[in-house]
Amino acid sequence: MAAKATDVLGVPVHACDDVLAAALHLAQRGGGQIVTLNAEMTMAARAQPELGRAIAAAQLVIPDGAGVVWALARQGLRVRRSPGIELAWHLLEHAAVAGWRVALVGASPAVMERLQQDLPQRIPGLQLVFCVHGYQPPEAWPDLEQQLLACQPHLVLVALGVPRQETWIADCPGRSGGLWMGVGGSFDVWAGVKKRAPRWMGALQIEWLYRLVQEPSRWRRMLALPAFAWQVLREG
Ligand code: UDP
Repeated sequence: MAAKATDVLGVPVHACDDVLAAALHLAQRGGGQIVTLNAEMTMAARAQPELGRAIAAAQLVIPDGAGVVWALARQGLRVRRSPGIELAWHLLEHAAVAGWRVALVGASPAVMERLQQDLPQRIPGLQLVFCVHGYQPPEAWPDLEQQLLACQPHLVLVALGVPRQETWIADCPGRSGGLWMGVGGSFDVWAGVKKRAPRWMGALQIEWLYRLVQEPSRWRRMLALPAFAWQVLREG
């Protein structure tokens, strides 16, 4: 696996050239947790010990986000930006070909219903063995976790938002085998409820601006971005 373990502001990250290959390699070695790290999450991990612990324990942390790629470049590590939503989709395509059992956890009931219908049509051969939305009452989770584990999934995509999806995966009792990955708003995008920023905004590294216009309520969370840049410049 062409991945160099390093860190950004003390948060571990693997400087991967090919994240799909790294993920498939991890699957062969018995699986584990995949985290897609961006600047906002890096700052959250520094402030929230539970999230920091979950990321530190993850088997693969990929650089998702222009900020993390920029911080790695300042350390002399040139890596491509690897959006988590793209890795998650490639893993679904691989799952269909390889006959993997796939579980989806999270997002609204309407989004989950849409995905259950649409995904097997868009990715023929995809075996969805367990699908559950993310707005369950707290007391429902232990049973759901048991049902999920009983399916022995090869791939579990979790859309509960940061930090919950990372800590939920890290703390899932009895988790063993398979790839487990937090995917944020990916289910909403696949269901057509949210849009990804256009490519040209990605090229200009201003996807954050698109996100802010789509979801203005995120402005407070996004103050982490200048704080991240400032910290990287100070510590570098
Ligand atoms: N979500 C959920 N349960 C909750 C809160 C959020 O399933 O209690 C879902 C939400 O519907 C969305 C995803 O988690 O599909 C989080 O998306 P967001 O874009 O906010 O991800 P983040 O930026 O936090 O990674």
